[in-house]
Amino acid sequence: MPGRRSFQVDRARCQALAEDLERRTRALPAVLRLGSSNDPDGVHRANASGTRFETSQMEMNMRSATLAVLALLLPAGALSPQDSSTDYREPYQQRALDIYRDLIGYRSAASHEQVPAVARYLADRFRAGGFPDGDVHVLPLTTPDGESTASLVVRYRGDGSSQRKPILLLAHTDVVDALPEDWDRDPFTLVEEDGYFFGRGTFDDKFGVTMLTATFLRLKEEGFVPGRDLILAFTGDEETAMLTARSLVTDHRELTDAEYALNADAGGGVLGEDGHPLWFLVQTSEKTYATFELTVTNPGGHSSTPRPDNAIYELATALKSLESYRFPVRMNDATRLYFEAASRITEGEVGEAMRRLAADPQDAWAAEVLWNEPEQVGITRTTCVATMLRGGHAENALPQSATATVNCRIFPGVEVTEVEQTLQQLVGPAVEVEVLGEPTASLASPVRDDVMAAVAQGVEKIRPGTPIIPLMAPYGTDGKEIRQGGIPTYGIMGIFIKDSDQFAHGLNERVSVRAFYDGLEFWYTILQAVGGMNTPGTPGEVPGVGSGSGGR
Ligand SMILES: [Zn+2]
Repeated sequence: MPGRRSFQVDRARCQALAEDLERRTRALPAVLRLGSSNDPDGVHRANASGTRFETSQMEMNMRSATLAVLALLLPAGALSPQDSSTDYREPYQQRALDIYRDLIGYRSAASHEQVPAVARYLADRFRAGGFPDGDVHVLPLTTPDGESTASLVVRYRGDGSSQRKPILLLAHTDVVDALPEDWDRDPFTLVEEDGYFFGRGTFDDKFGVTMLTATFLRLKEEGFVPGRDLILAFTGDEETAMLTARSLVTDHRELTDAEYALNADAGGGVLGEDGHPLWFLVQTSEKTYATFELTVTNPGGHSSTPRPDNAIYELATALKSLESYRFPVRMNDATRLYFEAASRITEGEVGEAMRRLAADPQDAWAAEVLWNEPEQVGITRTTCVATMLRGGHAENALPQSATATVNCRIFPGVEVTEVEQTLQQLVGPAVEVEVLGEPTASLASPVRDDVMAAVAQGVEKIRPGTPIIPLMAPYGTDGKEIRQGGIPTYGIMGIFIKDSDQFAHGLNERVSVRAFYDGLEFWYTILQAVGGMNTPGTPGEVPGVGSGSGGR
């Protein structure tokens, strides 16, 4: 790590870390023992899925030998002072920073029509870096609103020696808009300050675009030839309609067909507030987002002559039925592994419930305990909750209509129509149930040993000892569209970030300087691993591998 500054080791923290390390390593199942966590203190909260874990206070007794070893193993950045880009002087690092800076300079938000220009800029970079014209494709798309956007697809040719289908690598070039007048710094100029890079898209997702672009260029320059093709695909409307992602796996399937996809826009590492790594999450599925309206209509009339039926009362009754209903508990590979891992570091009843549910999804006691945990309940089942109300038109008139908005987060693999039918049965025929828009059902990808092993190599490179855990995300990304197209997709954003640094979509979005340069090493390791030069693990146990039908 060029230019890494020295750091002071805190003895008390090291003691706690060593104790924890030992305990975790013993406790974790094989699939997760890809390292061991080292969090020293009491409460760790909120990863990307909004979950919370409690860990017990560490006992401070330990052997001094372990302490000495641990001090050497500690990730340097956990206790280091803030980095500066001037610490990183390798040509590939400087080129990556140039690309990052150039990308932030484009206001590639909806209605600004800058995405096609970003795609052309990157295409020029790839051609200049030695990728033949025939392997660099700018794919324009006009949305139904008449807006111009585009995807970029670049194929890194392998020698075919692995005899496997290509791997797709995803990121998106569009951003949520930022109003310069609201920001402390110009959102469309990359600004480095106090160990951070600021700017719209520094995290979501020009980080991912830069990482993949810079790594393709670096590997090409070094003469790396993968055993299979690697296909990079940058979409252009992830933050809005995700039409470019859909078209990649439908209209342009010949360019993008792959065994599986790695998405640089989801999952990723979580740091505790003191800077040490807690988890690295591999996003294997997303819940489907769907909104319904429940409406009761009535002839109405004068409020001095009330009828026995009333739209507001009937809607209230319908909502009480919804309130008391529980969708059935469901489980997939990711949520089972998640609960297994989380149970080992979650105290009390909740930890016990996680353990029991992972072992038996029918365990009623466990389901009941987790029902009362807002941060866990969504991982156990589909949820639907009333979020808005409107009704009536005058204080002295009987209501002619009353409507409730109900937002659902549907478990992967469950159809939207199935939820709609359940709602209709719950509220009865007098209430109209209507789905808003055209939500796409989300599929779950199987947890693959080969992907997890490659991710472990990448994580070991930058934050050794961090546990790796599958994630079913409550948020949506292009990954949903790619999974729907039959390509299993894994979100592995190559970044470690604190919750307090998380400003994606918001003001003053930022990424630490160290995270930026670590990301380059992460992707460099991963692409060599999955590219087949040193293929880890065996994918043979996973059904459907190679058939492009991994979703369920
Ligand atoms: Zn994103």
